[in-house]
Amino acid sequence: MRDSKGRFIKGSKQTFLSRLKISKSLLGKLGNRARRWKGSQAGYVAKHSWIVKHYGNAVRCDGENCTLENPSRYEWANISGKYLRSKSDYRQLCPSCHRKFDKKKVDKL
Ligand SMILES: [Zn+2]
Repeated sequence: MRDSKGRFIKGSKQTFLSRLKISKSLLGKLGNRARRWKGSQAGYVAKHSWIVKHYGNAVRCDGENCTLENPSRYEWANISGKYLRSKSDYRQLCPSCHRKFDKKKVDKL
């Protein structure tokens, strides 16, 4: 809302309340969407965070032909694609080897 000189006026009580109602209804929708999103996608994040939670962040690269020196971070790569709750189903890789590794996995399928 602006006054006659184009300055912003803080909303009246009524607009504040209606804004509150709008944001509440939006929140509800977002919540529903978030729940649906979790239903189909949560698995990926949850399974990846399992290995980090139990074994910490990856600290080295086990890639056979790793050429990347001092990458900014390392990642846990899942080997079987089944995200087993076992450390043997994961290997530590730098982002470069991880990408190559995942591509190999896809080629094998
Ligand atoms: Zn590497």
